[in-house]
Amino acid sequence: MLAICPDGTTLMVDAGAIYDSLKYTIAPKPDGSRRPGEWVARYVQRHIRGAGATEIDHFLVSHLHADHIGQWIPDLPNSAQGNYALTGLMDLAEHVPIRKLVDRAYPDYSYPAPASFAAQAKDQLTFENYRKYITHRGQHDQAVERFIPGASNQLGLARHPAKFPGFNIRNLAANGEVWTGRGDDTVKLFPETSSLDPTRHPTENMCSTAIRIQHGRFSYYTGGDLPNDVVGWYDPPAWMDIATPVARAAGPVSVAVANHHGYVDSMSPDCVRALRPRVFVIQGWDSAHPTIRPLYNMLSSSLYDGKRDVFSTAVKEENLIATRDLTQLKSLNGHVVIRVPEDGESFRVQVLDNSDETDTVIATHGPYPCN
Ligand SMILES: [Zn+2]
Repeated sequence: MLAICPDGTTLMVDAGAIYDSLKYTIAPKPDGSRRPGEWVARYVQRHIRGAGATEIDHFLVSHLHADHIGQWIPDLPNSAQGNYALTGLMDLAEHVPIRKLVDRAYPDYSYPAPASFAAQAKDQLTFENYRKYITHRGQHDQAVERFIPGASNQLGLARHPAKFPGFNIRNLAANGEVWTGRGDDTVKLFPETSSLDPTRHPTENMCSTAIRIQHGRFSYYTGGDLPNDVVGWYDPPAWMDIATPVARAAGPVSVAVANHHGYVDSMSPDCVRALRPRVFVIQGWDSAHPTIRPLYNMLSSSLYDGKRDVFSTAVKEENLIATRDLTQLKSLNGHVVIRVPEDGESFRVQVLDNSDETDTVIATHGPYPCN
């Protein structure tokens, strides 16, 4: 996600890359002639240029999974800048300077446990490559910070904040520490890991960072892969539903990015009720993005009154058969652009063609009033 803020500050959340079998994942857009992070870099360069920017001011890593930072596989080219392989975020950084990078676990990466990153060997190599990039940044005076839950000054406007007092970015949560809504106060919802069975630590997804961008009455929620439960973990303790308290800290909002790509463990009824957005955006890349129940919840007027439009950046064709309610989406494919006028009283949604780099607008929705 790329945000161009009213003073020209540029913010990004995640830049993943997955090279798994296309049996399950969506084919690369526009095509496979470049790596995902290279396409992302080109998209970012085109769009920040209009705001007079050549850099990303703030880059937020939601969590340390391949589809958010860039998967490591053998034979990736090495960076010309340092000792790490080019994939996802690292590919982006090769082409677009990142002034400040914020993640949930810098500098020691020890929460909830170092081993938590190594659930699978391929995840470990992906994480190690990211660590090499972070080390490189540290050696070259490129800022890296640990996400501060509750803060509203870590990711905000970098250029002319005084000109836009109605704009702010609130850090809602990371590592189970959630903003209370009072000042910058937070509450820690995960038990001490020392009290837990190591096989039932908070997962990497549960530790995702979440933010709310506010501009006047407009607000936008994004919370990485925060889940409501874990598939296969039965009788979960209450703390494992981390997405619901985070949604309550965020909501109601104008636009909500569906947690965890709308996968089966996300967007529970309570979570949808709390966010109750006018527009949902699903960031899809897998055949199970979204699944039936989260989508049904997002569409259900039993959970909150009023209309809502759901957009997905991409849907696997097979999923249209499995998940019939996908016919109700406003868009099944294309970049989803949220445009907020300076007064922050309304917003529009534009869908851009992702089959090439012309950024052709193929649909415009709204204006939606911000209530
Ligand atoms: Zn993900």
